[in-house]
Amino acid sequence: MKETSIDSRLRGNENESYQANERGYYGDFGGAFIPEMLYPNVEELRSQYIQIMQEPSFQEEFKQLLKDYVGRPTPLYYAARFSKKYGTKIYLKREDLCHTGAHKVNNTIGQILMAKRLGKNRIIAETGAGQHGVATATVCALMGLECIVYMGAIDIERQAPNVARMKMLSATVRPAMSGSRTLKDATNEAIRDWINNPVDTHYIIGSVVGPHPYPDMVARFQSVISEETKKQLLEKEGRENPDYVVACVGGGSNAAGLYYHYLDEPEVGIIAVEAAGKGIDSGESAATSALGREGIIHGSKTLLMQTEDGQITEPYSISAGLDYPGVGPMHAHLFRSGRGEFISVNDADAMTAGLELSKLEGIIPAIETSHALAIFETRKFKKDDVVVINLSGRGDKDLNTFIEYFNL
Ligand SMILES: *Cc1c(COP(=O)(O)O)cnc(C)c1O
Repeated sequence: MKETSIDSRLRGNENESYQANERGYYGDFGGAFIPEMLYPNVEELRSQYIQIMQEPSFQEEFKQLLKDYVGRPTPLYYAARFSKKYGTKIYLKREDLCHTGAHKVNNTIGQILMAKRLGKNRIIAETGAGQHGVATATVCALMGLECIVYMGAIDIERQAPNVARMKMLSATVRPAMSGSRTLKDATNEAIRDWINNPVDTHYIIGSVVGPHPYPDMVARFQSVISEETKKQLLEKEGRENPDYVVACVGGGSNAAGLYYHYLDEPEVGIIAVEAAGKGIDSGESAATSALGREGIIHGSKTLLMQTEDGQITEPYSISAGLDYPGVGPMHAHLFRSGRGEFISVNDADAMTAGLELSKLEGIIPAIETSHALAIFETRKFKKDDVVVINLSGRGDKDLNTFIEYFNL
C-alpha cells in the first residue's frame, strides 16, 4: 500500500505516509466508488487538480483572495484564562474570524478557482445546516457564477436564516424531497444533477469526503490553516510544532486543515473530537470512529455508522455540522492506524464548554467547535504542553440553540 507516487514526489517528500496516495487512498480508506455515469466528471477533475493547484497564477489568485476577501492569516491566539483553568498552554486558531464565520470558505474559494480553470460556469453543492451552502453561494456571487444548492426539505425548514442568506447571494435552493429529506438526500440530488450536466457544471463538495480527488483536494485547500499555524507558533513559542493539534470532526475538513502539515511529524499528537450526541450507547450520536464499520458512502470507502445489514444509521448531534454518519478517509486511517487519538463528547459537555469559552475569553464559539473545547475536563495535559485547537467557527448561527439550552 506504500506507493511512492508521482503525487508524493510532487510534494518533495517521499515519506508522507499519512497523506493520500495517487489513487486517493489513506491506508485502507478512500478511493473512488462511483457510478459509471459519473466517471468522466470525476476523472476530468482527478487528472488535472494537482497541476492546476500548482500553477503560479492559481496560487497567486488563491492567496490573494484568502488575504483580501477571507481575511487571512487568521490569528493564533494564546487563550490565557482558558489555559490557566486547565493548567496547560492552549492556543486557538481563529477560523471563526474568516469571512462567513468559519473555515468552510477556504475550500469554496479554492474550488471556485478550480471550476473556473476547468471552464465550468455552473456550480452545484449540497448542504445540511446550510453553512457550506452559504460558503458556496458566497464565492459564486464573488465570481458571478450560477449557483444551485441542494438541501433537504426538512433542513430548509430548520435553517431558515441560512436559506435566506443563500437567496440574498442569488443562489437557487432546491429542496430534496426523498428519504429522510436531510443531508444525504441532498447529496444524492446533487450527484444526480452532476451526472445530467457533465460539461458545464462543477460540484463543490464541502468536506474531506466524496470520491478521490475530493478528500485530498479539500485537505490541500484547508491546509493553509496548519501552514499559518507553523509560522505563528514559531514566532510565539520558538518552535513550529505544538505538542498536540485538536479539532472537531464532522466530515473532517477543519481537522484535515489543522493536521495537514503535522501528519508526518510524529512528535505532534493528533486529537480528533467527534459528537457523541446523547451518549455513544444512546442510539443518538455521530461518533463514527467509536461506532462505525467499514463501508462506502458518497463515493469513498471509510468508517460509517450502519446497521447489521449495512443500512446507513441516521446520525444525531446537537450541532448540525457534526451529524454526518461517516468521516473522511484521512480520519478513518488516522483512527485505524492509531496515529490519531479519537475522543467523543456529548451534547451537554459541548454546550457547557461553549459557554465557558464565552465567559473566559470573550469568544462565542460554534457548537461544533465547542466539542473540541470540551476535552479538557477529561483529557489531561502537562503544564508545558502546547495545545493548538482549531476554533473552526463562531457561534452566531447557534445563538437560538444556546438560548433554548441555557434559558438565556
Ligand atoms: C461545518 C462545520 C464543521 C464540521 O465540518 P468539518 O468538515 O468536519 O470541518 C465544524 N465546525 C464548523 C464551525 C462548521 O461550520
